[in-house]
Amino acid sequence: MPDIENKPCYDLHSHSTSSDGELSPTALIDYAHEKGVDVLALTDHDNTAGIAEARAQADKLGMSLINGVEVSSIWNKRLVHIVGLNFDIDNEPFQIGLANLREQREERGERIGQRLEKLGISGALAGARAFSNGQILSRTHFARFLVASGAVKNPNEAFKKYLGDGKPACVTSEWASMEQTVEWIKNAGGHAVIAHPARYKLSATRLRLFIEDFIECGGQGFEVVSGSQDAAENRKMADYALRYELYASKGSDYHGPNQPWLSMGKMPDLPAVCTPIWSLWENSTSS
Ligand code: AMP
Ligand code: MN
Ligand code: MN
Ligand code: MN
Repeated sequence: MPDIENKPCYDLHSHSTSSDGELSPTALIDYAHEKGVDVLALTDHDNTAGIAEARAQADKLGMSLINGVEVSSIWNKRLVHIVGLNFDIDNEPFQIGLANLREQREERGERIGQRLEKLGISGALAGARAFSNGQILSRTHFARFLVASGAVKNPNEAFKKYLGDGKPACVTSEWASMEQTVEWIKNAGGHAVIAHPARYKLSATRLRLFIEDFIECGGQGFEVVSGSQDAAENRKMADYALRYELYASKGSDYHGPNQPWLSMGKMPDLPAVCTPIWSLWENSTSS
């Protein structure tokens, strides 16, 4: 049913050139503003360096910016993404932890480069670095290099052929445990959210285990509406949020204009039965 109330438009998951997004923090804020987003969280992978620039631009445009980050974490030996929202970005233990993860990314990058070298693709590490803006090194940057060098046609093929889980250039890394990630976020005064829960393709039993462990760690939020989930998945995720009394979040996971199917400001509303995660900070700051 169309919503006729003039509610603010939230997008609590997005990326800039401070991780693997294509737009600078300023350009990302301009874009979000143009698309009608009122409250944006910049959630770069393992990095909060873009937030100051984004905040300056958001202030200029009268937009609200929420501190965010998407932390590479391990649950049950696999990589999962935990989004932190509305935390103190100057919190030292958290920043030390994130710096560590960025170092892990450098090491992993070297090993990805070696794997690709063995597969007959040379210069991948330097090539990926050239795409990375010197901030964090991501598989996305390797994918961009593989496209640019003609090894694959598009980033998706780069993940399917080389970089995705279990593929020949996929190497594991020492990410933070989910427990550690949630502790960092909470101790910095923020809220932890399971990012794009449907993307892990877990069975119902394993998804329940994941959620139960997350709650045990102190996690509170669940990305019910995500740009990397379809409408049916969003609905399913809303059921999990309700069942486990998790606060619901919503985010496009926007990475830039190279994902032409994904736009900001067009995400469906959270189902009315969900409790939005922003009620946590809006209630606490308005009283
Ligand atoms: P990393 O954080 O370095 O492990 O890289 C993961 C990032 O790769 C994700 O955040 C996505 O932005 C991107 N990614 C993952 N799978 C794909 C895919 N199939 N096609 C394009 N990008 C992808
Ligand atoms: Mn990404
Ligand atoms: Mn993610
Ligand atoms: Mn993301």
